[in-house]
This record gives sequence, structure tokens and C-alpha cells, in this order.
Amino acid sequence: MLTSRPPCLSFSPLLQVVGYAFFLCLVGPVIASERASTGDHAEPAAPAAVPAAESKPAAPADAAVDTTHVSAAVAPVESISAPEALGRLISGNQRFISGDAEHPRQSKARRGALAGGQHPFAIILTCADSHVSPEIIFDQGLGDLFVLRNAGNLADDHVLGSIEYVVEHLHAGLVMVLGHSKCGAVSAAVSGGKVPGHILIIVEDIEPAVEAVADKPGEMVDNAIRAKALLVARQISRSKPILSSAVEAGHLKVVAARYDLSTGQVVILP
Ligand SMILES: [Zn+2]
Repeated sequence: MLTSRPPCLSFSPLLQVVGYAFFLCLVGPVIASERASTGDHAEPAAPAAVPAAESKPAAPADAAVDTTHVSAAVAPVESISAPEALGRLISGNQRFISGDAEHPRQSKARRGALAGGQHPFAIILTCADSHVSPEIIFDQGLGDLFVLRNAGNLADDHVLGSIEYVVEHLHAGLVMVLGHSKCGAVSAAVSGGKVPGHILIIVEDIEPAVEAVADKPGEMVDNAIRAKALLVARQISRSKPILSSAVEAGHLKVVAARYDLSTGQVVILP
């Protein structure tokens, strides 16, 4: 697909120190040319029209931004643009909605070609809910999406660190925070009351979104689902030092979206 330098050549000293050896073991070297070695890699061109909300400006980064981490490692030359990545997601979702899913890039050849590395074109942070499987609802294949999931699509430090890794070393330029209708985690936060064990941590993380929509008309759970996705997208955009710097430099776009369990449609939130 896209030529890329080995990740080891783009490490910043700090990240070397804190040990991304785990990730290197996980992903291996980036493939020099996936297209040359796979017969099923071609992706249909992005649709000419992307959702209107796609033009929504990214959430503003903090004024005082440490730009020391914005190095050649996050240069966009080796990745597709954020609008093109979003177009791929939307066109795949349209195939899924209409029942015309192509299940692309899931062949034995694709698996073999990816064995040496990966170059996902988008990062998806979504709920762990079993209805919301990104590769299925966006009709994508192996190696296309870097997916992070937990109940409520929350961005804790582990999630932020994972996104930072992909932005810095795999050069993905799009993050989508994907909430979904009828989210049980958000419903629990709206319901209030006592919850056991570690579930409390999840509910407490969602409560600010619930409070933000307390006075809004409409269905409270769905309002909170939308608010939470937008808040997490803003949190990612403002995360220092790596992600906020990448956003400010124009190398990263973060969008929030909502998936409808009934229709299968993903809508970008304004
Ligand atoms: Zn959910």
C-alpha cells in the first residue's frame, strides 16, 4: 500500500526509553509494499462526497503545546489523508447497510502479506458491545483498522498510549470515536444508583457526559451517548504531548460518530 520506514528508525528517545519493544514485538516492521504482495488489497476509491459533518474542524488543541514530539515520525506523506480514510469507512459502512458487504482483504494471501507488519489507515475507538465490530460494520479487512474497545468507548491512559503509538509509528491520520445507540454503559450512568466492582469506574467516567445533557430535550441516554463520543474525541485531540501536537500540525484528525444498532448506519457527529 504505502512505503514506510521501519518503526525502529522513527522512535523518539523518550519512547525508546519507556520501551515500545512490546509494540515492536506485536506489530513487527512495517510492510514496504503491501500492494505488491497481495492480490486483494485494492480499495475502491473513496466516494467523492463524504458526510457533511466530515468538514467539522477538529477540536482545538491546548494553546501551549509541546511540539517536540512532532517529528518526521508523524509526517503524513506515508499515509492516506484523513478525508480519504473517512471516505473508506463511510463507503464500507454503506456496503454493510445495504447488505452488499465485500469482506475485502481477508484472504490467505492477505494474512501472509501482513505477517511482517501492519499499516492500518484508521484508528477506531469504540464500545466493546458485541453489536459494534468495526471490521464488520465498515466492511474492512485484516490490517485495515487499529481497533480499541472497552465498555463506553473510554480513553484511559492505555488507550491514549495505544493511539499515540499508531500515530507516531504507523502514521494513521484518522481517529474515530464511535459510540452507539442503546449503549449499556451509558444507560447505567444515566440510571445512576449503585454499581458493583470495577463497573463503577466506567460509570464515573461517563457521568460528565450525562451531566452535560441533563437539561437538553430529547432522549437522555442517546444524548449522553453522543456527548460522550464528542467528549472523548476532544480528550484525544487535546492529549499532550503527542496527539495534540499531531492535530495542531494537521497530521491527525479526530472525529466522533454514532452507530445505530438497528439501521447499521454510522453518522459523524457535528
Ligand atoms: Zn456500549
